Amino acid sequence: MDEKDVQAAVRAVAGERATLRIEGSRIGVVIDASGLDAPRRDALEAAVRMAAGRPGYELRIVVTAERVARRIVAVASGKGGVGKSTVSANLAIALAQGGRRVGLVDADIYGPSQPRLMAVEGTRPEARDKVLLPVVTPYGVPLLSMGQLVEPGRAIAWRGPMTAGALGQLIDADWGATDTLVVDLPPGTGDVQLTMVQKHRPTGAIIVSTPQDLALIDARRAIDLFRKAGVPIIGLIENMAGYACPHCGEVSDPFGRGGAEAAAQEEGIPFLGRVPLDITIRTASDAGQPPAALADDRVFAPVAAQVAEWLAAR
Ligand code: ADP
Repeated sequence: MDEKDVQAAVRAVAGERATLRIEGSRIGVVIDASGLDAPRRDALEAAVRMAAGRPGYELRIVVTAERVARRIVAVASGKGGVGKSTVSANLAIALAQGGRRVGLVDADIYGPSQPRLMAVEGTRPEARDKVLLPVVTPYGVPLLSMGQLVEPGRAIAWRGPMTAGALGQLIDADWGATDTLVVDLPPGTGDVQLTMVQKHRPTGAIIVSTPQDLALIDARRAIDLFRKAGVPIIGLIENMAGYACPHCGEVSDPFGRGGAEAAAQEEGIPFLGRVPLDITIRTASDAGQPPAALADDRVFAPVAAQVAEWLAAR
């Protein structure tokens, strides 16, 4: 058998990604699949197998890949209904529009709403070798949601170990070249949050609060959870801040302004911006058309730019 011939055949299909070694009757190929998603990795391995196999020789292929250094941004809130899911979805889209490869994980076991917000309600993720494949959304952000793991409409009444297992399935899914995962956590400080900080080590956390919520103990508890676990807080986003007039768009502040910013300062965390209470945010979100995807978005893009800057400095 001509070693050069095998070498050329392997190079033709795998270029610099393959390293060949022939010893006795054994042909060994190491494939570097760094940066390839699962289908391309499988296709490359199959092509190398075809190219390198020779009758009478045992072929061994090892596929290696540098682990993609994936950043996790956890989005948390002290309590429910403050717009954490809305902010997570729009932040993920705005980050993707800024050039990052972003995936969205909906870990809110109590009210998984991302499939609706991202217009993929009813789509179930497929799995390959027991690893989930994220669902493709119209907004360039792949998604996996706790809501996709159970029958639609069935209340999720899981206990600690089950939620931990489910969270692991979502985070350790086949995210391909995704470099940033935005994780929409359930409100409060329960099992999912603990698993998140202990096992999955977020790069940073974002706290979403309404102006009123911030005065409450809950938001501070959420901040505390990350602090104690050594997870840096990227900053606070004030949602439902001020009221955007549906007629003229002008934002007024019936409850005064600046409270959240002051509270963030008091807590020593950066203030990332305000999202006004705006009826069009609700109607667009309910219709599966996140406002961050619109060309005229002036609200989420600046927040995402700050988050991107923070991530780039890590
Ligand atoms: P959470 O995830 O904190 O429970 P959601 O994101 O589900 O909150 O938001 C709760 C409700 O408030 C949804 O109906 C959503 O459309 C609406 N909402 C969220 N943020 C805004 C906003 N800035 N302006 C108007 N409605 C909003």
